[in-house]
Amino acid sequence: MLNAMLKVLKDKNVSLHTGYNWQGEEIEADITVFALGGSSWKITGSDGGWTNYFQNRGIKVVPFQASNCAFQINWPKNLISRAAGLPLKNIALKSLNIRKEGEVVITEFGMEGSGIYALSPQIRQQLNENQKAICYIDLKPSLSLATLIELLNSKPANYTMTKYLDSALNLSKSQLALLKNLTAKEDFLNNETLSNKIKELPIEIIGLAPIDEAISTTGGISLDEIDRNFQLKKLPNHYVIGEMLDWDAPTGGYLLQGCFSMGYNLAEYLNKL
Ligand SMILES: Cc1cc2nc3c(=O)[nH]c(=O)nc-3n(C[C@H](O)[C@H](O)[C@H](O)COP(=O)(O)OP(=O)(O)OC[C@H]3O[C@@H](n4cnc5c(N)ncnc54)[C@H](O)[C@@H]3O)c2cc1C
Repeated sequence: MLNAMLKVLKDKNVSLHTGYNWQGEEIEADITVFALGGSSWKITGSDGGWTNYFQNRGIKVVPFQASNCAFQINWPKNLISRAAGLPLKNIALKSLNIRKEGEVVITEFGMEGSGIYALSPQIRQQLNENQKAICYIDLKPSLSLATLIELLNSKPANYTMTKYLDSALNLSKSQLALLKNLTAKEDFLNNETLSNKIKELPIEIIGLAPIDEAISTTGGISLDEIDRNFQLKKLPNHYVIGEMLDWDAPTGGYLLQGCFSMGYNLAEYLNKL
């Protein structure tokens, strides 16, 4: 795909100058389009080093924050020894009334994966306000609370609850470890409270992964600073697109699509000038 894109540019006699690090000097041009990326994975060159240039021109740059990243959780040690590196599949996660189905991986640091990346805005908002965020895991999205209670009530007497959860509910090793380590004994032994925990297991998140390890960043040039064609209001004929702008989207294609769409729309607009 990249080769195909490069061929289109070559056929149009576009000059490409790679291997340069732009440090703020003005290049004489009728139109300038900036697409210098956000601030995560600095090794790729997207290091957010452009912020001073814009701030010095009175353009508001919102501080960068990690998005689509791992979230820090103070897991009980027992849980880590049993479940670190294991996936939690077919679950749903909820934070601030946004619910997403997906999967995550339990790690020593906390939790990561598509299921929780999608809740980045809700988790980041709570962390910014309270230094902690709550996320609820539904370990059995396919069953209602009432069905679950009914099912647990019909546990045969010769089954332990753990064995029954494994065989009747098909909970995985990591799901069982999570449930047992985050549920008080009296709650585990009561079918109603246990069912509630299976449907809404609260997890306390205490931080974000470092920006450099995040898939994307929020922050960057404030959307108030551009007009509807991505032109900087304070620097006419200068345009900004992509992750340099302060917006957020879940990974899994939406970030890339957002960037491609901005590029496409701006090109359409500029070609008609
Ligand atoms: C590990 C990882 C996995 C990802 N997976 C997905 C995914 O599955 N789906 C999805 O939608 N998104 C994904 N993303 C996010 C996606 O790659 C970015 O949102 C997107 O690439 C941003 O595009 P952009 O053009 O704005 O910036 P970038 O792609 O970051 O490009 C900016 C370019 O500008 C260059 N640059 C920066 N500063 C300077 C300078 N001063 N001088 C010269 N050059 C400079 C950089 O070297 C870079 O080449 C992932 C990101 C990472 C890091």
